[in-house]
Amino acid sequence: MTKRLIEPAEDPSFKPQVCSTCARERGVRGMDAYDYSPMQVLTGQPFGWYSGSDGELCPECMTKAIRAIRGQ
Ligand SMILES: [Zn+2]
Repeated sequence: MTKRLIEPAEDPSFKPQVCSTCARERGVRGMDAYDYSPMQVLTGQPFGWYSGSDGELCPECMTKAIRAIRGQ
């Protein structure tokens, strides 16, 4: 019996993060590398990737969502 190490891509529980609005997969560049935090809203910084039990939102969709909430 040969045991193989499971690579992350083969792990059935591994799923790439995908934006629930535009279906874009999370990358490693730009704001994709950062997680969203409420501090980014308060301090006017660019938003990172939002990941929660209610779904995923990429930085672009996060920006649109926040603008819509603010009525901009
Ligand atoms: Zn998106």
